[in-house]
Amino acid sequence: MRGRSARGARVSGRRRRRLWLSAVLSAGLVPPLLLLAVSYFQTVQQTRERLERYAALTQERADQMFGAAQDTLAQLAQQIVPRCTDATVSALRRTVYDSLYFREAGLIVDGAIRCTSERVYDPPVPVRVASLRVNPAQGIYISAPALTPEHAVSIIIAYRLNDAAAVNVLLNPALIGEPLQKLFAADAVSVSLERSDGTELAHIGPPRPADARLQTVRASSRFPIRAVAVTSRAALLQSWRVDALLYGSGGLLLSALLFLLLLRLGRGQLSPEARLEDALNDGEFQVYYQPVTETATGVCVGAEALLRWQHPQLGLLTPNVFIKTAEESGFIVPLTHWLMQRIVTDMAAVFDAHPRFHISLNLSAGHFLDPTLIDSIRASLGGRVAPSRLIFEITEHQLIDEDQDLAQRVLNEIHATGAGIALDDFGTGYSNLKTLSRFPFDYLKIDKTFIDAIGTESVTAGLVENIVDIARRLKLRTIAEGVETREQLEYLRAIQVDYIQGWVYSKALPPDEFYVYLRNHLRPATAA
Ligand code: C2E
Ligand code: CA
Ligand code: CA
Repeated sequence: MRGRSARGARVSGRRRRRLWLSAVLSAGLVPPLLLLAVSYFQTVQQTRERLERYAALTQERADQMFGAAQDTLAQLAQQIVPRCTDATVSALRRTVYDSLYFREAGLIVDGAIRCTSERVYDPPVPVRVASLRVNPAQGIYISAPALTPEHAVSIIIAYRLNDAAAVNVLLNPALIGEPLQKLFAADAVSVSLERSDGTELAHIGPPRPADARLQTVRASSRFPIRAVAVTSRAALLQSWRVDALLYGSGGLLLSALLFLLLLRLGRGQLSPEARLEDALNDGEFQVYYQPVTETATGVCVGAEALLRWQHPQLGLLTPNVFIKTAEESGFIVPLTHWLMQRIVTDMAAVFDAHPRFHISLNLSAGHFLDPTLIDSIRASLGGRVAPSRLIFEITEHQLIDEDQDLAQRVLNEIHATGAGIALDDFGTGYSNLKTLSRFPFDYLKIDKTFIDAIGTESVTAGLVENIVDIARRLKLRTIAEGVETREQLEYLRAIQVDYIQGWVYSKALPPDEFYVYLRNHLRPATAA
């Protein structure tokens, strides 16, 4: 169970770091990629709008020119009879001279051209009679661009006079696109003006590309013509590159901001508390047990559970390196919860085998503020170990700094579970007896500084006896801490200190070594 939970926890610690790493990478990659994608759609959108605009410009210009042709031809029709009289010819000429657009005007009768603004045909030259099939109500007939005898490629625009006769004008298709040509070429927009049957009338901009993209069609409502605009894939990518550069730098800026933000968060990730949390998840904490020995008999009657951090780089760390951080961050609460669970795992069998055996553990001031403390104690013991097998240690310092009423209430609650309470590091604070008597203490741990003074000239030396006196009056059992020498031990035995904890017996040991120690110290030892 221990292995499984440690492995599970390790994975979660790693996963968190992996998540953070991928968040940092994402901060670097996602915004530029996102903005590239956004800029691509933006470019497509803008290009599509441009194509629509240019198709509309072309269609409007064509409408304007064919409209002018229609008006001109309608006027001409009013002025002439369908014969090539002098009046007819001069009317044809005026039509051309008065117009900006038209090259030539002519009269067709019975399928043959009779006269134009240039000359009279005798004999008449046959022409295609498609123009004559046009319903006058529809206005004009627009031909495909064709080579005409006198002029280069022209569009013939014809208007019917009657069943047999029509007038027409020739239009240079290049004129339609002339004012637009430069603009379309610059934007790589290729526009084809088509008849509705698909015949191309004029072309504006670069030739229609083989890799045409985003085709846009704009049909005229007046004439059977339409403008078809396209651009090329190459041109589209080119304008995306320009946009992407713009957006890309925005993306980089955003990335940098995100990166900094994550770094700040990351600093939280790597904060001392987060490192402790990771260490717990990664199974780096260990519990060491320091034997507590009955002074009179030399029998090991218990142990104090002390935390150790097996740091992957720094090696085995003692609590003075991390307990303060754990206390300040509140992490001491989950850490102690874990410690209690470990005590159960490590010691349940020992408790079963030895009815007098106790384990003491350290509480911090932060525990008084933890409303779940009692539940947490019960939960971690899980019915396998009676609370009465535990002794909770609290220092004078932790008590004094706290709301005394709260501390008293919590300690009473703990005491009510059957657990013992020990006053730790006694003598290092300045509490008076009255202060101490309000708390439900069972044990008093005499601080190492007093033990160290034993056998020295120091004024502190004599204080140990006083402390033992006080304890006796308060009906507290005494534990001497940090006992290192045989001399100290003898002295403490002489003044009837109840228990000894110190290197004279043993340092704090990992569970396996502690079991061995325990096996050898369960019987009264004559030579302790
Ligand atoms: P403490 O509660 O006073 O624990 C006794 C300390 O004295 C332990 O140090 C122990 O190893 C050391 N010690 C015992 N006998 C001798 C001795 O003969 N000579 C010398 N030089 N030292 C001796 P450790 O394990 O380094 O713990 C230091 C402190 O860290 C503890 O002092 C306790 O205040 C705190 N601590 C340890 N574990 C926990 C914990 O789980 N929760 C809390 N809140 N504090 C803890
Ligand atoms: Ca302690
Ligand atoms: Ca202590």
